[in-house]
Amino acid sequence: MEKFDVTIIGSGPGGYVAAIRCAQLGFKTAIIEKYSTLGGTCLNVGCIPSKAWLDSSEHYYKMIHEFDVHGITFQKPGVEIKTMSARVADVVKANVDGIAFLMKKNKITVFNGLGSFKTANIITVKGTTGVQEIESSKIIIATGSKPSSLPGITIDKERIITSTEALKLKEIPKHLILIGGGVIGLELGSVFARLGAKVSVVEFMDGILPTMDKSLGKELQKTMKKMGVDFYLKHKVTSVVRNDGGAKKNIANAVTVKAESDGKEIVLEGDYCLVAVGRRAYTEGLGLENIGITADARGMIPVNAHLETSVPGIYAIGDVITGPMLAHKAEEEGVFVAESLAGQKPHINYNLIPGVVYTWPEVAAVGQTEEQLKASGKAYKVGSFPFKASGRARASMDLDGFIKVLADKETDEILGVHMIGARMADLVMEAVVAMEYRASAEDIARMCHPHPTYSEAFKEACLAATENRAIHI
Ligand code: FAD
Ligand code: NAD
Repeated sequence: MEKFDVTIIGSGPGGYVAAIRCAQLGFKTAIIEKYSTLGGTCLNVGCIPSKAWLDSSEHYYKMIHEFDVHGITFQKPGVEIKTMSARVADVVKANVDGIAFLMKKNKITVFNGLGSFKTANIITVKGTTGVQEIESSKIIIATGSKPSSLPGITIDKERIITSTEALKLKEIPKHLILIGGGVIGLELGSVFARLGAKVSVVEFMDGILPTMDKSLGKELQKTMKKMGVDFYLKHKVTSVVRNDGGAKKNIANAVTVKAESDGKEIVLEGDYCLVAVGRRAYTEGLGLENIGITADARGMIPVNAHLETSVPGIYAIGDVITGPMLAHKAEEEGVFVAESLAGQKPHINYNLIPGVVYTWPEVAAVGQTEEQLKASGKAYKVGSFPFKASGRARASMDLDGFIKVLADKETDEILGVHMIGARMADLVMEAVVAMEYRASAEDIARMCHPHPTYSEAFKEACLAATENRAIHI
């Protein structure tokens, strides 16, 4: 039986990053992945293909809706969905091949197959070429997550689908009904709305992006409405039924979704229904019962502050444990465990894990929301700057959105930054750096920002938070 110092189960951003860091630190490392390609949800059916679709659809949308004011003319706009999805597949392939290269480069042994605990240090790998056992001193569980559904809804993967199928659609839906106005719903809803689909969002809460600062969801909803997206907030879905008897042909009313709000029912008919109501930790087939690990009520693997499970020597990271289901959070945890195993003292600041929604305008945030500060009774002040007052935003005509800075009322320390606007996904890192070093709003306000850039809006919001002295509003 082959023996390893560390074995990682699952090759998503948590698992493969943990493997690389373990190898860098001198551990004999193995990684087990049940699918034939490495990279997990993120690279295969998550972050990467969704961003590739978002980029393609944005080019198309800008071409038909915005190029004319720039004086750019063209003939016959159109979408070749086959070419578009082939490009997405190429992007995914380049990324997953890159991970395979990194495994080789770092001399990490890759096992293809389902990893299952036989004992606390023996794992059975059931692959296409048979079953083998490996022994490992330490094991990191990085098995990620799968889409959730709702009671009574059957995901048939044809017309009633999850993000996994939506990313591989061969046609543009006529009417896409989205259940869930969270990150997946709004990103994939944007893709298909830009490509010409009618999109309706049914959301249970009273606003979209309900876990973020409320102001962000409100602004995004306004801009997505301008694209023709319909929103049904505070609506509880009561049924999702397929009407076409499983026909392969696209029938306009293949799916009926019923939902109710305050006793009033709405009935929506569309050709696709995308269920995006969150994801659940994935532990099926892992054999946790063989080693005495019990998932918590939400299906997550419980871990302590060292990310170690109840079984010494077995750790868990990423989507399969508590916290935001984000690739960069999983990566940080992978590095954290590897370095802990090497006797180092790593640290993760969970308050400063940024969140980004790759719609247009982009939504990005870090730190506390206004709702959280209110609930905790913390005295805070607010500085906000709208992009309609930004010279850079005016030049590109991306005038929707704002940056909102929340700072401690007494000390002026920045407690939260909430952005919606062009290119915010990248700008949010300025806020993360500032907050990691516990900057005050005035610290940022006194730093020279390049002109004309979107980053000036962050400085202006900080000026607004500091005695209301923004210059351009
Ligand atoms: P995963 O990436 O889920 O990887 C787990 C791996 O373990 C999988 O490959 C699985 O096959 C394997 N596995 C499971 N069980 C076993 C077993 N028993 N044996 C062997 N292998 C096993 N996050 C962001 O930060 N930014 C984004 O833009 C973003 N976009 C997203 C878009 C979509 C559509 C989706 C669905 C998710 C997106 N996410 C995004 C979330 C992100 O993909 C996850 O947070 C991230 O992939 C979690 O990483 P992980 O390593 O914990 O697990
Ligand atoms: P989510 O938690 O972001 O959103 C789910 C939405 O569904 C919420 O708004 C919720 O109120 C709503 N909902 C729940 N039950 C409902 C019901 N019965 N009827 C109507 N609405 C209902 O989850 P998601 O969009 O499925 O994404 C899953 C995970 O993937 C998220 O945790 C997210 O962090 C991650 N992800 C991240 C990115 C990114 O970082 N850009 C992109 C995609 C996915």
